[in-house]
Amino acid sequence: MNLHEYQSKFRFGEFGIPIPRGKVATTPKEAYEIAKELGGFVVIKSQVLVGGRGKAGGVKLAKSAEEARDLAAEILSKTIKGLPVRKVLVDPGVRFNQEIYLGITNDRAVGKPVMMASSEGGVEIEEIARTKPEAIVKEYIDPCFGLHAYQVNNIASGINLPYDHWKQFTQIAMALWQCYLASDAELAEINPLVITDEGQLLAIDGKMIIDDSALPRHPDLAEMRDIEDEPEAETRAREAGISYVKLDGQIGCMVNGAGLAMTTMDMTKLYGGDDIGPANFLDIGGGASPEKVAAALRIILSDPNVKSILINIFGGITRCDDVARGLLVAYEEVKPDVPMVIRLQGTNAKEGRQIIDEANIPNLVSASTLTEAAQKAVEAAKGAM
Ligand code: GDP
Ligand code: MN
Repeated sequence: MNLHEYQSKFRFGEFGIPIPRGKVATTPKEAYEIAKELGGFVVIKSQVLVGGRGKAGGVKLAKSAEEARDLAAEILSKTIKGLPVRKVLVDPGVRFNQEIYLGITNDRAVGKPVMMASSEGGVEIEEIARTKPEAIVKEYIDPCFGLHAYQVNNIASGINLPYDHWKQFTQIAMALWQCYLASDAELAEINPLVITDEGQLLAIDGKMIIDDSALPRHPDLAEMRDIEDEPEAETRAREAGISYVKLDGQIGCMVNGAGLAMTTMDMTKLYGGDDIGPANFLDIGGGASPEKVAAALRIILSDPNVKSILINIFGGITRCDDVARGLLVAYEEVKPDVPMVIRLQGTNAKEGRQIIDEANIPNLVSASTLTEAAQKAVEAAKGAM
């Protein structure tokens, strides 16, 4: 789950990282009041769950409360990378002479969290990572021992941080690690961490991603989820207990079990070639009830790229005849008009296939092997393109 900038920085603040003490506004008038309270010199920052807001015109400096109001009106009417701006953060303006990048994420290849830093932080950090990787220094963190002071010193010297700032930098780096650890985060990032004209370090932008699987033990973080800013299909999938990831292909996949879902996606790609592939990963999990099947059908069909649907169910404890009946109920409810191929295997597969065949639904065919099912789904998708 992605946190907004204001939520991330608030969390950072709780761990002792210095942050500007701004407030969130949803109207130009509110932005005006906050800016007035803060003395007029403020920065208006769109709160949307994407990076690169600055470059997209979603971060602007104002010199007075009136200007803050006008800029807030402008930013609140914007759509940034497809997301309408509903909130702005009004932060006190800061004058600074350097932008530092400081972040922690999991390095899956190494199997450890890694702290990364660069003296060239700010809006060009992706470009720096691509063209000048040596400008980014890294320290791997052993989760059992935590972040050591010598590692922070390595980073501070690696980014040529003036010695005056080392003490504060150490405090911030340690606090960021504590925040990352205690939040079960996948990412905790400050970009930029600035050196202000007064010689203080200050985190003026923040981003956190929390591991969804850890949210049950963080009710305070879980309630920060912004459903308005999340793709609707993801919200619906989460509420129905379905794992769903949207992809760019044309074949909607409905499968029980993550491994089987991945195999099914591979098979559509194998027979689909360069042009046709899976439209999504979708695992309905155990117990394919009619309600779940119907929810999954609706989620898959909410993607306009879907040209055919491949349903691949392995009946273990779940019986295929139950799934078949559930599917017919869901079909009656959703009435999809895209071609669907269903492959049932395992417990009561024969009975399940018979139920499907007898229902005689013109756009629903059954298959007995995954190869046959994938080929039929690819043909159907091609036919509809
Ligand atoms: P992002 O583009 O989504 O990463 O948004 P940021 O919050 O990082 O803002 C983009 C850039 O705006 C920063 O890298 C800064 O250069 C600049 N910026 C943000 N806040 C202030 C501020 O208070 N004063 C000044 N001078 N610049 C700021
Ligand atoms: Mn930033």
